[in-house]
Amino acid sequence: MPRLIKNVKELRTTLHSIRCDSNTKKSIGFVPTMGYLHRGHRELIKLSKIQNDVTILSIYVNPLQFGEGEDYERYPRDLARDLGICEEEGVDIVFAPEDEEMYPQKPSTVIDVPGLTDILEGAFRPGHFRGVSIVVTKLFNIVQPDRAYFGEKDYQQLKLIQRLVTDLSFPIEIVPVETVRETDGLAYSSRNTYLSAQERENALCIYKSFLLAQKLFSKGNTDPKLIKEAVIDFISKHPLVKKIDYVEIKDQELRDVERVKEGDRLLVALWVGDTRLIDNWRFKNEPL
Ligand code: AMP
Repeated sequence: MPRLIKNVKELRTTLHSIRCDSNTKKSIGFVPTMGYLHRGHRELIKLSKIQNDVTILSIYVNPLQFGEGEDYERYPRDLARDLGICEEEGVDIVFAPEDEEMYPQKPSTVIDVPGLTDILEGAFRPGHFRGVSIVVTKLFNIVQPDRAYFGEKDYQQLKLIQRLVTDLSFPIEIVPVETVRETDGLAYSSRNTYLSAQERENALCIYKSFLLAQKLFSKGNTDPKLIKEAVIDFISKHPLVKKIDYVEIKDQELRDVERVKEGDRLLVALWVGDTRLIDNWRFKNEPL
């Protein structure tokens, strides 16, 4: 079993002895999560295990990154199940703090990255990235890892963390991990547990729309407007898709593009029933 630690002081002491007690410097890999672990999280852990001597995974459903009326209360939580998965994957330490431990008082500090935290997710979830920035900054300061692992599934979050690390000089290497999908293309997400069988079937339109967009691009279409319209058209045919928040094509730094090229991203956020899903696709040069 991984060692379960719930308080910051104990974690700091444990990490201090790991760093100091051996003659060789031990590298620390860190995987921040909100728990209810799935195959996507497992890939982050596996990479950390390969690249580091010690792997720490945090489980914390951060209230600050949920807006009013969002799914904070119903977000799935199961620590026993998560610990079992962490044991299977060989995680050394699980850090699972309570709210009082993370936020003895509500933080007043605000981190914004204009042009990055106010578009896409930031436009539809005001305050979301402020919550993410604060919790990740705190976790980085508590764990002080050598490397931290983030999924491309949350592409905008990954770009924010990379920017944060550069701007604030965190001595941490950010390691991106490609999105892990089920065999039919649905990206693994803890929120998939909300979906009924019928909703899940409709949710597949996201991945199918990526294949459609890639096909158009592979055929020589580089007009972002044309590709976006084809994607929106296709998704709109699915009756359980209640609302599309956005379908956007951006370059890899999330800037607007006039012509689509390899490496650009198609980003989608939509509602299937009462469940909000996000996903993104990297345009590739090779034909499908
Ligand atoms: P979460 O628990 O949803 O906050 O996710 C924790 C980390 O796992 C984040 O860096 C996510 O981007 C990453 N992640 C979530 N789902 C996937 C997936 N399907 N493939 C790869 N990484 C993922």
